[in-house]
Amino acid sequence: MIRIIMLGAPGSGKGTQTQLLSKYFCIPFISAGEILRQEIRKNEKNKNYIKNIINKGKLVKNSFIIKIIKKKIQEKIYLNGFILDGFPRTIKQAESLKKYIKIEFILYLKIKLENIINRIEGRLIHESSGRTYHETLNPPKKKNIDNITGELLTKRKDDTKKIIITRLQEYEKFTKPLIKWFKKEELKNTIKYLEINANTSIQYIHKKIIKKLNINQKNN
Ligand code: AMP
Repeated sequence: MIRIIMLGAPGSGKGTQTQLLSKYFCIPFISAGEILRQEIRKNEKNKNYIKNIINKGKLVKNSFIIKIIKKKIQEKIYLNGFILDGFPRTIKQAESLKKYIKIEFILYLKIKLENIINRIEGRLIHESSGRTYHETLNPPKKKNIDNITGELLTKRKDDTKKIIITRLQEYEKFTKPLIKWFKKEELKNTIKYLEINANTSIQYIHKKIIKKLNINQKNN
């Protein structure tokens, strides 16, 4: 049983590392951003609210995302563990999560600001699955084509310089304080907080994460 939260700025590689870890440990993942993007496609009622917020680079309301994630986590496939990507993003969300589930690890991907813009601007996504690529750092086998389905890759509408600035401001204001919050939680022995240098290559970061998780699982 392993339950992990991925923490880090936009562009720190949370999504990419989540997908690799999910494969490595054979555990499913939940991506908050991906769920919201799917809601835009499927849910007429909430479509405009979510779209408006995401395209401004702001965070959706705590109560809104908490309700969605809480319901999702209760699905059977997550019973034996999961990786949470993009949730919690505020202390309110973390406090709420703590009330109904025990998390073992927080993985904080620490990245320099100068690397963020390049990571985000080169990102490509396969819309229906949420698979991500990068034009140069993690290119698909065929240019602009998803490796698995052969469908066309696209860019996220919120991956522009202008919106990235707001997303980073939201991160600084609401998500970064979580680092301190989780460190305090670690002192109470409720979780294990692990920091990873996320400025290197995808595979190198992946190996580092596995190593840290394996060492800390043994110590648990
Ligand atoms: P991501 O795919 O993780 O970059 O998330 C894309 C966007 O979805 C964010 O910029 C927010 O607008 C929204 N979002 C994702 N996760 C959350 C969350 N936990 N709380 C509030 N908004 C979120």
